[in-house]
Amino acid sequence: MRFDIITIFPSLCEGYLSDSILKKAIDNNLVEVHFHNPRDYTEDKHKKVDDTPYGGGAGMVMTPQPLYDCINKVKESNKGPIVYMSPTGKELVQKKVQNMSKLESIIILCGRYEGIDQRVIDLLVDEEISVGQYVLTGGELPALIMIDAISRLIPGVLGDEASHQTDSFSDYLEGKKQHPVYTKPEVFEGLEVPEVLRSGHHKNIEDWKQENTK
Ligand code: SAH
Repeated sequence: MRFDIITIFPSLCEGYLSDSILKKAIDNNLVEVHFHNPRDYTEDKHKKVDDTPYGGGAGMVMTPQPLYDCINKVKESNKGPIVYMSPTGKELVQKKVQNMSKLESIIILCGRYEGIDQRVIDLLVDEEISVGQYVLTGGELPALIMIDAISRLIPGVLGDEASHQTDSFSDYLEGKKQHPVYTKPEVFEGLEVPEVLRSGHHKNIEDWKQENTK
């Protein structure tokens, strides 16, 4: 799956993608990530990508021209939907992540400052997605959250194929939360692993898991 991230701070994302499961997914060509910096597209002689808001108010707004040109360039090589990460977008849920994991590619637009000029949204954006009802300084963390959640559903990305099928919020759990999980040792700080999980009795273990899935 291909992701094209439009951001004025690509370095904020690169670290996260350069280790662990996402790094492996990229190395194995299961996931492909490209960065595009609107600053490289600005026609402003001082390389500015923001300006004061019409109507007054605090902060700066990302100007439309660099974003517009950057997105149109990216569209030449990525035919997927253009998603703007936005605190006022539709909140990301696992069902949506599942659907997105079936796409071939996505273009992700990260805002900064007070957000982006509405005309870019009106002209080019297909969907606005939020990662929760709180406000961050930029769309880079939300973009990484979305890429992470999508990527682990792509066949081959997680070592153990079955492991995401029983995740919290999955179809298998009918949207519920997974039961608690334990590993060795049997007793830790006086707390014991539930006996049934150590019993080897498959039916009872399954019953316990079901009872503790909420
Ligand atoms: N003034 C705006 C917030 C701008 S935050 C408002 O009140 O709605 C700057 C950028 O961070 C946004 O353009 C967006 O891309 C990103 N962002 C912040 N919080 C986010 C969230 N919860 N989900 C997705 N993107 C978010």
